[in-house]
Amino acid sequence: MRELMSSSQILSSSAIRGPRTLLRQIRETMGAGGPTQEKLGSVVRTIAASMVAEVCSIYLRRASGEMELFATEGLAADAVHVTRMKPGEGLVGEIMRQGRPLNLMDAASHPAFSFRPETGEAPFHAFLGVPLLRGGRAIGVLVVQNRATRVYAEDDVEDLQIVAMVLAEMVAGGDLLDREELKDIELAPHRSERLKGAKFSDGLALGVAVLHEAPVQAGRLLADDVGAEEARLGRAVDSLRAQIDGMIEGHEGLVGPTFDVLETYRMLAHSRSWTRSLQDAVHSGLTAEAAVGRVRSEHRAGLGQARDPYLRERLHDLEDLNDRLLRHLSGDGAKARVLPPDAILIARNLGPADLLEYDRSRLRGLLLEEGSPASHAAIVARAMDIPCVGRLEGLRDRVSEGDSVIVDAESAEAYLRPRPDVVKAFTTRMVVRAQRRAAFARLRDTPAITRDGGAVSLLMNAGLAVDLDILPETGAQGIGLFRTEFQFMVSDALPKFQAQRELYDRVLSGAGPLGATFRTLDLGGDKVLPYMHAEREENPALGWRAVRMGLDRPALLRLQLRALIAAADGRSLRVMFPLVTSVDEFRAARALVDREIAWAVRRGRSPPARLEVGAMIEAPALIWHLDALLPLTDFVSVGTNDLNQYLFAADRGNPRVADRYDTLSPPFLRVLRDIRDACAASGTPVSVCGEMAGRPLEALALIALGYDRLSMPPTGIGPVKQMILSIDRDAVRRGLAPMLASTAGSVRGEIETLARKTAVDL
Ligand code: PEP
Ligand code: MG
Repeated sequence: MRELMSSSQILSSSAIRGPRTLLRQIRETMGAGGPTQEKLGSVVRTIAASMVAEVCSIYLRRASGEMELFATEGLAADAVHVTRMKPGEGLVGEIMRQGRPLNLMDAASHPAFSFRPETGEAPFHAFLGVPLLRGGRAIGVLVVQNRATRVYAEDDVEDLQIVAMVLAEMVAGGDLLDREELKDIELAPHRSERLKGAKFSDGLALGVAVLHEAPVQAGRLLADDVGAEEARLGRAVDSLRAQIDGMIEGHEGLVGPTFDVLETYRMLAHSRSWTRSLQDAVHSGLTAEAAVGRVRSEHRAGLGQARDPYLRERLHDLEDLNDRLLRHLSGDGAKARVLPPDAILIARNLGPADLLEYDRSRLRGLLLEEGSPASHAAIVARAMDIPCVGRLEGLRDRVSEGDSVIVDAESAEAYLRPRPDVVKAFTTRMVVRAQRRAAFARLRDTPAITRDGGAVSLLMNAGLAVDLDILPETGAQGIGLFRTEFQFMVSDALPKFQAQRELYDRVLSGAGPLGATFRTLDLGGDKVLPYMHAEREENPALGWRAVRMGLDRPALLRLQLRALIAAADGRSLRVMFPLVTSVDEFRAARALVDREIAWAVRRGRSPPARLEVGAMIEAPALIWHLDALLPLTDFVSVGTNDLNQYLFAADRGNPRVADRYDTLSPPFLRVLRDIRDACAASGTPVSVCGEMAGRPLEALALIALGYDRLSMPPTGIGPVKQMILSIDRDAVRRGLAPMLASTAGSVRGEIETLARKTAVDL
């Protein structure tokens, strides 16, 4: 109760608002040495005196989930280590559950109140409890109580939260309890857990958890010089704001920046409540980093529970802002973190270039709490061949730095602190998988020829420079689909002409004997750029995307074509357009290529030695106009991912419907047959570049339909080649033909039987 303060206390507390003096006293108590229980006792005494509370108690969570009274000033001393509450029980349980403070005028009238006679708490009415938060997770509760019926002031709540944060770090850092005691404290979850998510990048990995946002070290919590710390924070906030302002200015007038996103950042970075919370925390004696940690914990505790997607999105923005601020505080230098040799990176989500900043040779896997298979992190993880499982709800709060973790992308699961038997079984699976990979690697230089002598070209899908490192290992003969938009998606800003040209040049030089097929920007739909203006669309997959966008805003497409022609520099060039839906669109797109070639020639530059321009077949309408399209094209490529989505009217990004319809079904196979027949009749080279080309059973069906050029994710090449070496085209062709007339919804089972009967190595 403030009114009971001595005059000197009032003076000191009004001169320096916040718990600075209190934090200093706590630090002195810690430094004094002595048995840990005594230290805890003096900490609660110090807090009680400073807050003018008659009671101050610390409850910590045991590994069993029970909350135990660890120290108290004001309640019965006998109750220490005796009073225990079940998970969720009493006011303390309520605070743990909510992760938020509880400020009550009269504790006993709260519905969650649970009376514990042994504590002697009956006379105390006013109650203020705050969670001890570490990384957004409550590990205990700090409570102050008074006899009077009153509500604690906002400032009291603020101060107690700051003290609680410092205590949480001290407990975790072993400063307040000895090692033996700590063992049984639920500082971090100990039990093994298994979380179900979504597969973002295939593979298996076992290693130790590395948190993308590392918690602030306990030793770096309290500032030695508050004034200097305030100045540091001020400088970091200023440079953060300047950076965001620069990002906005840098994009003005270009392709229409997403002012929505950047403006939200700017608004948050300039928001007074955010900066005031940070300043208050520093003013109270915390370091700037600890202040960021505290403000972050508060946001998470508050917004993390929100069901409203808008609010959750704001939390995401704030997280990003806090991360950025930490980077500014560290002078940007702390980016390159040293990883343990078998690191599994844990993050809520990752920004465009984050993953590329880690040492690939030590990174074994990636687990994300959020994200989508089309998110940046997932794209880069696939390109780097790093197993990744995403959409793991509650992940960040359930795993601590150094925990052992399993990434099982085959079953889209994560195991946290797995039991030894799980590790053993998993290790066996990893060995088997590695053996299979080694067997595929041995086939690397073997040509993909069927038993009856038919050659199949196996190409790789790529999109980033890192893909080129993998290409020689796979034995791919070239790049059948280079997704140029990936460079745009993993950048913070629109890649300039020079950057585009350099990448295309590297791709052309490293693509192998069959060269590279560049697909022009396929943006829109599920591929949105944070720095590009995108209007909200009701149905983005059916909206303004791919070549539609390119034709309506030709500046971007022309710049890209110019970069491609410049990169070819007299070599051959193959370009194709995504989601061509009408013949006119192809005509218009092709005209842009011709225009750019003429432009280059006028400038005295060498045109490509050989130019091939193609269309992707992804929109069903085009299938019934191939007679008009094919004479205009040099080649076509079937994008089965989108074709499947549009034919079955099933969103490829929606897990509820994405796998509902089978590509190995009569309608889909008939469509593929018709495309193939039309191409054969007009003599147009055709390939398949959707994911299905990389699955052995699906590839078998494609070969049976007459396709002999398949482009796929790098991991598909080995298994598909092994299958090809074992098949007889005539036998599979004859076997598949009647299935196209089947009345079944899927003929997958029949194709599997056919493969078994004809001894196909799947
Ligand atoms: C496809 O749609 O099949 C395709 C290869 O393109 P993307 O997956 O990039 O849309
Ligand atoms: Mg597509």
